[in-house]
Amino acid sequence: MEQTTKQKSIPFIDLRAQQDRIRQAIEERINRVLDHGKYIMGPEVKELEERLTEFVGVNHCVTCASGTDALLMPLMAYEIGPGDAVFTAPFTFISTAEVISLLGATPVFVDIDPQTYNIDPGKLNNAIQEVKKGRLQPKGIIPVDLFGQPADYDEIEQIAKEFGLFVLEDAAQSFGAEYKGKRAGSLGDVAATSFFPAKPFGCYGDGGAIFCDDAEMAQRLRSIRVHGQGTNKYDNVRIGLNGRFDTIQAAVLLAKLEIFEEEIQLRDKVAGRYSEKLGEVVVAPFVKPDRTSVWAQYSVLARNRDEIIQSLKAKGIPTAIYYPKPLHLQPAYKSLGYQNGDFPVSEEIANRIFSIPMHPYLNEEDQDYIVDAINSALVS
Ligand SMILES: *Cc1c(COP(=O)(O)O)cnc(C)c1O
Repeated sequence: MEQTTKQKSIPFIDLRAQQDRIRQAIEERINRVLDHGKYIMGPEVKELEERLTEFVGVNHCVTCASGTDALLMPLMAYEIGPGDAVFTAPFTFISTAEVISLLGATPVFVDIDPQTYNIDPGKLNNAIQEVKKGRLQPKGIIPVDLFGQPADYDEIEQIAKEFGLFVLEDAAQSFGAEYKGKRAGSLGDVAATSFFPAKPFGCYGDGGAIFCDDAEMAQRLRSIRVHGQGTNKYDNVRIGLNGRFDTIQAAVLLAKLEIFEEEIQLRDKVAGRYSEKLGEVVVAPFVKPDRTSVWAQYSVLARNRDEIIQSLKAKGIPTAIYYPKPLHLQPAYKSLGYQNGDFPVSEEIANRIFSIPMHPYLNEEDQDYIVDAINSALVS
């Protein structure tokens, strides 16, 4: 092929294309905030919470300062602390486990399913049985909807019920996805999502939200969000945070919400085309038939990952590795005493996985260019 003289440069995520499309709506929304001046907990925050409650199909939405706070606050509401065990997967972003450790509790890792990369319910059952023999008290499970695909909630709920544990859905990557007709964010007892700019539903800064049906949980979360307030900010009934979501960021999301459903479709179209055209060089992602993914990442597996990444880089195609090192092998978790070999599926996937450009505005020409580059990476 003689096209290599024309060097392309494809963005990994193109936030600019989206902004060009709705710039006017965003500016109008932001201008309204500048006019009324209620920068903290202004009317846009309430409006967004109402809209997202409807979108997800739950009773309550509590926005907050980040996806990490959205995971931390429910654990605080459950009064998780030293001596408690919370189960999660080691193949995720550090936040998922970090919040458990921040409260003095112990993350207990459970290996993932080799096809979906989500927590393996069979191994979860075993891990809980094991912990029950020791000194830690099993309290909850944080399944992660990795790369945008919900975890196995029916199986997880059943296990949770059997052992009396709560389920906190980490929907940071799956906002907008569906599981058996229900939206991500409604799949556990309580759910957390992130509005970090690169997530499927991102604002222009940090942000997050918590979803639940239980009014008492919602009330506790609202208290924790403002320093554990009781009847007012100077009546502190528990230890809390400054965990509020900015009014200006709520304004940005209200504008983005107008096109979000369409963007979900566009993402799915890109992923569908990728999966159809990718040959034998890589293993395409697998989404179970009873659920959808919002494709926070389009991640593939390859034996010779580093060679392929280099050859894509030479053609102006960026890639990323989520995640190069499972959490049980991170220096921060050395004290937990895990070893290489403890979670063979997570370790194997970490060695073989990489993600390619994915966003709603990736055109077919660029998709084909990327697919061709991957399919020819081994041949050359
Ligand atoms: C991004 C992410 C978070 C944390 O969200 P922030 O808004 O960056 O704090 C938590 N869990 C997962 C799986 C994520 O991908």
